[in-house]
Amino acid sequence: MIRNAQIHFNDAGTPVADSFDDVYFSNDDGQAESDYVFYSQNKLNTRLLNHDRNHFVVAETGFGTGLNFLNTWAQFQRLKTQRNVQRLYFISFEKYPIKIEDLRQALKAWPDLSEQAGQLCAQYPDAVEGCHRLEFDDGQVILDLWFGDVHTSLPKLSYGPQGLVDAWYLDGFAPSKNPDMWQQSLFDAMAALSRDNATFATFTAAGFVRRGLQQAGFNCQKVKGYGRKREMVIGQFGAANAHATNPQYYRHVPRALRKVAIIGGGIGSACLSYHLAKRDINTTLFCKDDTLASGASHNRQGAVYPNLQAQYSTTSELYGLSFLYARRFYQHIEALGFNYDHDWCGVLLQSVTESKRTQHQKIATSDLFPKSLIRPVSAIEAQALANIDTPFEGLFIEQAGWVSPPQLTQAVYDAAQARCRSQHHFNADVSELEKREDGWYLQVNSHWQGPFSDVFVCGGEHSDMFTQTQHLGLHGVRGQVSHIQAGKASSKLTTVLCHKGYFTPSMEGEHCMGATFEKYSKGREVTEQDNLTNRAQLQGFYADTEFDQSLGEITGAKAAVRCCFNDHFPMAGQVPDPDSLCSAFANLRRGKHDDFEPLAEPHEGLHVVTGFGARGLCSAPLVTEHLIAALCDEPRPFSERINQALHPARFVVRDLIRNKI
Ligand code: SAM
Repeated sequence: MIRNAQIHFNDAGTPVADSFDDVYFSNDDGQAESDYVFYSQNKLNTRLLNHDRNHFVVAETGFGTGLNFLNTWAQFQRLKTQRNVQRLYFISFEKYPIKIEDLRQALKAWPDLSEQAGQLCAQYPDAVEGCHRLEFDDGQVILDLWFGDVHTSLPKLSYGPQGLVDAWYLDGFAPSKNPDMWQQSLFDAMAALSRDNATFATFTAAGFVRRGLQQAGFNCQKVKGYGRKREMVIGQFGAANAHATNPQYYRHVPRALRKVAIIGGGIGSACLSYHLAKRDINTTLFCKDDTLASGASHNRQGAVYPNLQAQYSTTSELYGLSFLYARRFYQHIEALGFNYDHDWCGVLLQSVTESKRTQHQKIATSDLFPKSLIRPVSAIEAQALANIDTPFEGLFIEQAGWVSPPQLTQAVYDAAQARCRSQHHFNADVSELEKREDGWYLQVNSHWQGPFSDVFVCGGEHSDMFTQTQHLGLHGVRGQVSHIQAGKASSKLTTVLCHKGYFTPSMEGEHCMGATFEKYSKGREVTEQDNLTNRAQLQGFYADTEFDQSLGEITGAKAAVRCCFNDHFPMAGQVPDPDSLCSAFANLRRGKHDDFEPLAEPHEGLHVVTGFGARGLCSAPLVTEHLIAALCDEPRPFSERINQALHPARFVVRDLIRNKI
């Protein structure tokens, strides 16, 4: 559970943390101090212009009011015309996030940062544990805001063998006021994440901090402090002794991503195109249908809400953070002028059975999520929110709602096109993939096309149709959504209702009602029986209500196949070759997690992004961003545990560990 900071403003108007009895920034010109201590002493003016990669990574302990971030962002913008670096990553850790109203108040102190401050406040996330990726300046400035103690967050980061961070802002309240943070374990974790020659700067000159940093591998130097402060400490990471947190079998090998093919036309493909386009990588999309979103993304209205559990499980983390990102992402697409039917009208999770009630009560009492994300509601409150006579209590997810999946998919794809013009081919049936000397070739409608440096297979339930992907272990779950005529009472519905399935507010006089759930089936034809099943399920819960009784005829339906894996997680990463994994990581069978043989990678450059099940609208934006960030060797928004949960090698690795293959 993340707790917000309790703060007050002192006579100088500076925010003060009650529990630390310390100021967030200096009473005399905090912005100038931030600029001197962190930005200038890390020599960012020069380094941003003379950096050998296209992105630069700053990491900070203690986000506080975000002043350091805003100042660095403003400086980066100033360098824009002449800069070398195209993208600035700012990773910051915060144990006690400031409430949004306090943040707004605190940032009023910096009129020349008001433009950036306004954008930060507009995206400032709910106090949910984990990493919130916020994107500014069309994706050129990225803030990864990790809510949680820096000691627990740092080891969660997913990164490659070269390390991650170029410059550290070692902030935080004074060591005397916040001794828990200034520990050797912090300095060691910083060292583990540092890239070669990473620098740090800190306002404190405390001897134990300097010695701790030296012990961790930083060369330290005292320099003049800001204003009346005599000294502060700066330094550089000496040895290249960074270690990847992720085991070798769950790595992503960085790619040049020169010429990219995407197979499939659903929400996953559209999101991939967008994240590639924002990195100026253009794509060629092959879709076997005549429009985008003809597969599982084709329903008239799809509910968008997170799948949360009463524990901070992998599921809660994946869907909680993905949902908040998806909301920001879809809003951004709309702000760019790409529209789609939607209504962020909230989703009511209804306690329609005893087991649902228990599950909902556990979430409500878990204290894991703030009420602004999910909150318990009585039946009376649920009625008021939904504006119909539902008899059930439950949970309300205020920021959730419904979207038109085909329109949304098109909007995301159009936004990608506007950013970086790409090619697309419809009615393009890809039947074979072949790796040749110069790259990957696709057999499209019986003609070979290529070479491509990279291919992303996002074909939903068809993703396992290639020789290279046959073994992925995905299965189809057929689902039918029925459309039913709205009646006088039902048309008043103002939120999405989730019972065992879902029921949407009416659009053009019809509600969506569903969906059926038929495992291992890949049939896409609409059946009368499934319409009856959907109607019976709704009636089973709401038969006595006026809204249910007002419903008219079933007017139509859509059936689709969602693509799932047995562990219910999506899959994103390079297509593994089971034989190569088994020989390289044979030691796993013997319980050893090291001493591996080199991994042969016959499918290098061939990636898979699939298995979103019925939750692609919620998870696809962040899952695809994570994969592209990993392939570009940039900071990744998911923790290492989510990285592993999504990794395509996971089933083979688990079987090896259990000595089952
Ligand atoms: N850099 C901030 C700015 O630009 O406004 C000011 C940082 S303020 C002096 C120190 C911050 O560190 C506070 O927001 C505090 O909640 C946070 N903090 C303290 N201990 C922490 C810990 N163990 N993990 C993460 N954040 C911590």
